[in-house]
Amino acid sequence: MNQLSDRINNLSTSQTLAMAAKARELKAQGKDIISLSLGEPDFNTPDFIKEAAKKAIDENYSAYTPVDGYVELKEAICRKFKRDNGLDYTPSQIVVSTGAKQSLYNIAQVMLNDGDEVLLPAPYWVSYVEIVKLSGGVPVEVPTSVETDFKMTAEQLEAAITPKTKMMWFSSPCNPSGSVYSREELTAIAKVLEKYPNIYIVSDEIYEHINYSGTFCSIGSIPGMLERTITVNGVAKAFAMTGWRIGYIGAPEFIAKACTKIQGQVTSGANSIAQRATIAAVDADSSAIKYMVDAFHRRRDLVIGLAQEIPGFKLNVPEGAFYVFPDVSYYFGKTLNGVEIKNADDFSMYLLEHANVATVTGDAFGNPNCIRFSYATSEEQLIEALRRIKEALA
Ligand code: PMP
Ligand code: GLU
Repeated sequence: MNQLSDRINNLSTSQTLAMAAKARELKAQGKDIISLSLGEPDFNTPDFIKEAAKKAIDENYSAYTPVDGYVELKEAICRKFKRDNGLDYTPSQIVVSTGAKQSLYNIAQVMLNDGDEVLLPAPYWVSYVEIVKLSGGVPVEVPTSVETDFKMTAEQLEAAITPKTKMMWFSSPCNPSGSVYSREELTAIAKVLEKYPNIYIVSDEIYEHINYSGTFCSIGSIPGMLERTITVNGVAKAFAMTGWRIGYIGAPEFIAKACTKIQGQVTSGANSIAQRATIAAVDADSSAIKYMVDAFHRRRDLVIGLAQEIPGFKLNVPEGAFYVFPDVSYYFGKTLNGVEIKNADDFSMYLLEHANVATVTGDAFGNPNCIRFSYATSEEQLIEALRRIKEALA
C-alpha cells in the first residue's frame, strides 16, 4: 500500500535534477557523457567571496541568524536593488532564504489558497508549476513559441486573466528560453495589470547579470508595480554559488513578514556563513564577475552558430541566461537509427543514448516542441556535444 501523502504522490520529480542525476550515473558506469542538462556555472566561486566566508568562520558566525537574514545582508541587498534595479526596498521588505527556490516556495505558500490561478508564460522554469501545485494553486500556462522569441504579449496576458487569477510568475532573462523582456514590453504588461489590482507578480531575476542584451528592466521599477511585485533574486548563477544556497526577495512588507513566519517554522533561516559571504557578493561591482559573463556570451555565440547548422532546429537567439531552447518538432514522427521519435522526451532520450549528450525535455518547461541545452560548460565540450548531436541526427 502506498503510505505517502497525495501531496507527494501528485508531485513530479524535478526534470533538471533528474536528468543531471542520470548523466552522473551513466558517467559513473564509464560512459563518456557530456551533460548539458543542469543550469549551473562551471566556474568556482570568486576568491573575494570565499575569503568573506573564511573570515565569517573565524569570526564565529556560528549561531542561528535572524530568521529573515542578517541585518547587514538585508541592507546590502537593499543597496543592490537600488543600484542595479532602481527599486526602493527597506530591510523589513527583504527575506533571505535557502536558495531562490525556497524563496519561490515561501511565496507560493503564503500567497495561494486552493484553486487560486497562477499565470505562467510558457516556457517557464521547471519548478514553478510544481511549487504552485504543491501550494494548492492552479498553474495556467500562457503558451508562446520560438516565432515570438518565447515572449508573452500584453494581449495574451489579458486573455488569460480570470476572476481566479491571483499571481503571474515569470523569469527574465528566462530559463529556459534566454529571452529578456524590454522596458517597453514590461510597460505594456504593467498596463494590463493596472486594470487588475489584485494580481501579484513574481519577477524572478536570478539571471539578471547573465544578460548580453545591454539592458535590463525589473518590472517593479515601472510606476505602480512595486506594491504588487515580489522580486526574486539570488547569488547562485551570477556568482557561481549554486551550492551555497542563498536566495532572497524584495516584497511588500506584509508578504515579507509572512515568508519570515513560514521560514521560522521550517528552516529557522539560511546558513550563517553563506549569508556573510553573500554580503561580499551583492556589494560587489559587476566588473568582478565580468569574466564569467563574457565567457557565457562567447559560448552563447558558439552554440547558436553550431546549433543553427543542425537541420530541423528552429532557434531564437537567447539574450541572457545560459540555455538554448531549440524547437525540434521537425523530428517528431520520424525514425532515427530505428528509434521512433514521438515527442521531445523521446528526442532528449535519443540524444542521451545515441549522442551521449544529456539535455532536458521542453515538456518540463511547458513547451512540448523544444529541448533545453545548458551551455554553462567549456567550449571544447560544447563543440564536441554539438558535433555528436549533428552526427546522431544525420
Ligand atoms: N529561478 C530560476 C529561473 C532558476 O533557473 C533557478 C535555478 N536553480 C532558480 C530560480 C533557483 O535558484 P537557487 O539555486 O538559488 O535555488
Ligand atoms: N536552475 C537550474 C536549472 O534549471 C538548476 C537546477 C534546478 O535548480 O532545478 O537547470
